[in-house]
Amino acid sequence: MRKLDTESEIRVILATEALGVGVNLPDIRRSVLYGLPKNLLLATFLQRGGQTCRDGGKGEIILLVDAWTVGERIISSTIQQVSIVDKIPPKKKSSDKERRSKLPQLWYDTANQIQCIQRGFLRFFEEPEGYWIVKKDQCCNHCNPTLRIDDIDSTKYYVYHERGPQFGKIQKAVHKDLQAWATEQVHTLSKDFAFTPTAGCLLRNDMCILLARNAYLIFTSSALKTILRP
Ligand SMILES: [Zn+2]
Repeated sequence: MRKLDTESEIRVILATEALGVGVNLPDIRRSVLYGLPKNLLLATFLQRGGQTCRDGGKGEIILLVDAWTVGERIISSTIQQVSIVDKIPPKKKSSDKERRSKLPQLWYDTANQIQCIQRGFLRFFEEPEGYWIVKKDQCCNHCNPTLRIDDIDSTKYYVYHERGPQFGKIQKAVHKDLQAWATEQVHTLSKDFAFTPTAGCLLRNDMCILLARNAYLIFTSSALKTILRP
């Protein structure tokens, strides 16, 4: 793990932010963060994204946000924003607009590209704007819209989250098994997690169909790779 760049055989690591604790991997070039942290803590976001390019090299952080976080919010004094230090309230049925209205301002601004992400964070932490040193075209998708990733096509990809697109019965079963398997793999890493890790699943719809058709062939991870090979 500590071998650098091309010396290392590891190209992709699927991890929680806990990877950053006690492990210094200086040459991570790209971090993909899946969703806003459930506890809505900025520290969690920084712990995740802060893994990237600790050696000062060039790289990027990609933040994937759920579709419900993007859009208008209710301007009303009756809506209480969740404090950035509070935990997210227990789930109850509310509209997407209401849920957005409860997001902390910085999270909402980030998901909706309302301001430069780096400037937003600097202001939040009351750091001098002089720390904003990156070139504008390399900063964020607010400063350079070409850095924006388009919406993930939910007819093509199945992104596991609470309001994912509808799958058929068999596809749902395959997805459920895959996710259970991935979660099990995560649990084999340690029995001493301070929290209960779960795994999400980003899977193309056609691959899920392929897996459903070939499910009886899959017993090992190498068989899985063979099936998924284009
Ligand atoms: Zn920016």
